[in-house]
Formats: sequence, C-alpha cells, structure tokens
Amino acid sequence: MSETNSGETRSDRTEEARKEGARKDMESMYRTDVQTHTSWGAPIMWDGIFQADLYDQTHRTNRSSVALTVFAVGRYLDAYLGAFLNSSERHFMVGLPVRYYIFTDLPEKVPDLQLGPQRSLEIIRVEGHSRWQDISMARMKTIADTIESVIRHSSTHVFCMDVDQVFTARFGSEALGDLVALLHAWYYNLPKVLYTYDHNPQSSAFMVTGDFYYHAAVFGGSCASVKALAEVCYQGILRDMENGVEALWHDESHLNKYFWLHRPSKVLSPEYCWDPFIGQKSDIRVARLLWAPKNYKELRPNV
Ligand code: UDP
Ligand code: MN
Repeated sequence: MSETNSGETRSDRTEEARKEGARKDMESMYRTDVQTHTSWGAPIMWDGIFQADLYDQTHRTNRSSVALTVFAVGRYLDAYLGAFLNSSERHFMVGLPVRYYIFTDLPEKVPDLQLGPQRSLEIIRVEGHSRWQDISMARMKTIADTIESVIRHSSTHVFCMDVDQVFTARFGSEALGDLVALLHAWYYNLPKVLYTYDHNPQSSAFMVTGDFYYHAAVFGGSCASVKALAEVCYQGILRDMENGVEALWHDESHLNKYFWLHRPSKVLSPEYCWDPFIGQKSDIRVARLLWAPKNYKELRPNV
C-alpha cells in the first residue's frame, strides 16, 4: 500500500472520497422549498429527497408486488382507459410485478394491450349507475370486496386510481407504504380554512379541521390497510344514504375523514398527480401523473 509523507494511505483517501460522495448525495437528497415530513413523522415524497434505485432494490428483495385498481365505467372507458394503461406500462412500478384490476360495465371494450414481463391484467364486471356520484362512491365497496376475495392473494400492495389521468414520469416503489395518501394539487399550498372538507354535521364525513386536503384520485397501501380504509369509507357512505345526505365531495370527503382519524404512513406530493391547468410551479420538479382533460358534459351519465 503506498503512503504519502504525512502517513496517509491511498485507502484512507479512497475512504475520504467515498464519504465526501455520500455527503454530497445526502445533501442532494434534501429539499428546503417544500415540507418533506408531516407533523407525525410520515415522509412527504418530493422529487430529490429519495434514491429511486435503493427503493427498487429493497422492494425487489422484499418481493413486493403491486395491484392497481382502476374503474372505467360507461363513456370513461373509451375516453381514458387506453392512455392510462399505456402510460402506466411505461412508468408505474416498473421492475416490480404489477397486476391491473379493471372494473367496468363494458368488459368487451377493454383495449387489448401488450403488457410488459411480470405484468398482468384482470377485468372485473361492475354495474353502471345513473349518477356519476354513485359510480365514484361505489368504488369503495368494490375495492374492499375485491381486496378480500382476490387482490390480497396476488399482491402485497395496492394503489387505487381515477382513470382520467396519464403517467408522464416514474411513479415507482418510493410511493409504496402501509397507508399512502396524496396531496391535492389545488390545495397543497393553500391555508387550511380553504380545504373543502364536509362541513355538514349530518354527514359521517363531517370534519372541521384536518392535516391536509387529500385527493381521492390516488390512494394506496398494504392490502389490509386499503381494505380497512375502503370499508370504513363505504360504511360512512351507506350511513349517509340512510340519513338522506351526501358528503360534499362524495368518496373524497369520506377519504379525508379517514385519513384524519388514521393518519397515512406516507404522503405523496402533488408531483404524483398534477393538474397541468395550474401551470408551471417551481416546487413541482417532475409531474409524474397528469390530470387528463375533463369533459364532464360529454362523458358523465348525469351533469
Ligand atoms: N368513473 C367512471 N365513469 C363515470 C364516472 C366516474 O368510470 O361515468 C370513475 C373513473 O375511474 C373516474 C372516477 O370514477 O376517474 C372519479 O370520477 P371523476 O374522475 O369524474 O371525478 P373527478 O376527477 O372530477 O373528481
Ligand atoms: Mn378524476
């Protein structure tokens, strides 16, 4: 081993260089412009605070596998499902086993896709509803039932998503956790008084204060946690129906109530579901999933 006049060896220097590299890596794993932890210590995932390959390695070692549930009922199927699936093949949990669960009233119209290795798709028929609010809320019951009957046997984790969106960058294993919520793009930097929780004391989604305003277009977690979430939300929805009330933002109101009572173990920044209509924001470094144009008049069964 060569030695300098000061007695320093080459391996000392290599070790120094390694430490310096690690320190720089740590520095670059840091964001000062955004909140990266909740008050209860859950990480808020922003670009730049994580090393994607480390998450991928850990989840491959742990044999994580991911179910992605998506509903495409009525005219939403033709309008959105193809682009959603094509883009998720490129960006969603690439490198891990993924099984899509497509819930639709039109199984024969689900596009025929060439899926990547370790990726599969199951179509499950559901009833249509004459009101879009009911289509949206009924998802909670179907999700709970299907996790119990099927998903928990195929996958360790599950994500539940709206279909009216398109993946545009990595939505990877860093997003996995026991109970995962998403910050709503329109509310993440607004004062809490503007959060549109359900303020009707008659509704089981009623709440006055909360931590964040979460978006129902993306939530996830372990099978057990997502099943518990979907069951509680659906019970709340049923109770409201019996009492002749409907929460302000339907399943999203119940979801926000649930996450207030059961705080998520991981929170996704709006990079994980961004509305391009908002325009450029310096804190949104990578938009990973984008809202597709909404065309409610043409696509929903009722207005
Ligand atoms: N949905 C559907 N058909 C409909 C209405 C809703 O399949 O006619 C499903 C679809 O997955 C959609 C989700 O329910 O993404 C939530 O509805 P929507 O996206 O219209 O709600 P928003 O994004 O406006 O909250
Ligand atoms: Mn939507």
